[in-house]
Amino acid sequence: MSQQHLVAVVGAGPAGLYGTRKLTEAGHRVVLLNRDIKPGGLAEYGIFVDKEKMKTGLRKQFKKILADPKVFYLGHVTVGQNQPVSLDDLKNVGFGAIVVTAGAQGTKKLGIEGEDCVGVYHAKDVVYHYNSLPPFSERNFEIGKRVAIIGMGNVMVDIANWLLNHKKVDQVVVVARRGPIEKAYDDSEFEYIDMYLDNADMKQEIDRISAHLAAVGQDVEAIKSKFIKQGEPLEGRRLTFRYLYSPIKVIANDQGRVAALEAEQNEMILQDGKTVAKGTGKTQRIDVDSVIYAIGDQVDASLGLPFSRGAFVTNPEKLPGDPNPAAYQPYDPEIKKALDGIFVAGWSRNASVGLVGVAKQDAERGMKVVNEYLKTKPGFSSGEMEEKIEGLIDTIKQKGASVVTKEDVELLEGAEQEEARARKTWDFKYTSDDKMLEVIKARKAGK
Ligand SMILES: Cc1cc2nc3c(=O)[nH]c(=O)nc-3n(C[C@H](O)[C@H](O)[C@H](O)COP(=O)(O)OP(=O)(O)OC[C@H]3O[C@@H](n4cnc5c(N)ncnc54)[C@H](O)[C@@H]3O)c2cc1C
Repeated sequence: MSQQHLVAVVGAGPAGLYGTRKLTEAGHRVVLLNRDIKPGGLAEYGIFVDKEKMKTGLRKQFKKILADPKVFYLGHVTVGQNQPVSLDDLKNVGFGAIVVTAGAQGTKKLGIEGEDCVGVYHAKDVVYHYNSLPPFSERNFEIGKRVAIIGMGNVMVDIANWLLNHKKVDQVVVVARRGPIEKAYDDSEFEYIDMYLDNADMKQEIDRISAHLAAVGQDVEAIKSKFIKQGEPLEGRRLTFRYLYSPIKVIANDQGRVAALEAEQNEMILQDGKTVAKGTGKTQRIDVDSVIYAIGDQVDASLGLPFSRGAFVTNPEKLPGDPNPAAYQPYDPEIKKALDGIFVAGWSRNASVGLVGVAKQDAERGMKVVNEYLKTKPGFSSGEMEEKIEGLIDTIKQKGASVVTKEDVELLEGAEQEEARARKTWDFKYTSDDKMLEVIKARKAGK
């Protein structure tokens, strides 16, 4: 009987799923462990709620990957320290390789005074909330009428889209360390919210900072013609920008809720040809009743890999012949060695960087490295692999966790699609794990 390899992939987002496809194409079997009941990661629970074409297209591809008999899906299973399965448990099972594609689940903070008060939230949690991912879907987010979003990337645009178009708040104030040109959002994404732009306010704002822009050689007139548009904000809901400000404190009211943001005014300087914000010591109060950090995320240290400054430490050595293969291996800086048989890819390797296509490409490149590595290792017979998978499921169940299979996911998705049709909408999701498990149980019982 021919010997195959058995690989554990931790996380069924785009990186884990496209990575799994590369592994199965090479003939390996994959056990795909996923924290959420359903696969998809941020493609399911991050991409904006009304991007129907993109979401349904990705779901179709993911379904096909999961349908491969070489893929064994274990949903609703979190891997990590103090979780039903640890990376050591996976090592003990004897997988040929372990691939961590768990995204960037750690939360980045600014570390400023008052940021723990009621009404300060992190974009990832808000995004998970409006995309119906438990437990965030069930959590109450106290969003007021004037909301500051810190950061100027595509995630800011999504949050502003939700606040202005769905929550119908009065005002979104985007607070950014640098100026308009340093935006990180795409113009095509901004179209979802530009009808709310307060152009009179934008003109005043650019006038206020024009000396700073000119000081670093930026063309103020060109900036004005690009960023100041025509027209009044739609339905009076306003989108405004406060450029060259770094938040330094969240001011709470006497009930411990956000009352305002205190920010330090910046100037810009040029460093190695790039603009850098530099505090001036002058501060400004910005009255808002909620604050959302859209400043990117970091990886989850509790997974148990070497961790430094928000990222897993990866092998700094580059091997000849490949652009970057060693960087897919976690690395222990104390003993100066890559961890044997463990790999990282996608947002677990490069937190909050890039769209689905970037995570896909990263995973595909990473799996080339894994496939090469496996060539050097002995495989298992089919019977040995079955035993290992059974052993892993027993370990998980002994810790009191329930396991969701791909057949369960199909039943759940079938029920959700029926519900969507009944509600005459393209998408419907159950918003609690208990409800999803109950629906799966009922469908299995033929109800
Ligand atoms: C708000 C937002 C909007 C976006 N919109 C777009 C868009 O419109 N178009 C686009 O192309 N890209 C978009 N992206 C980017 C895209 O979502 C990412 O590039 C991609 O999802 C990253 O894939 P990943 O697999 O590395 O991580 P993720 O998608 O985060 O997947 C991680 C997976 O790991 C699982 N997991 C986490 N921790 C554990 C654990 N401890 N044990 C087991 N499993 C675990 C999770 O359940 C999840 O399934 C958006 C991102 C965000 C944040």
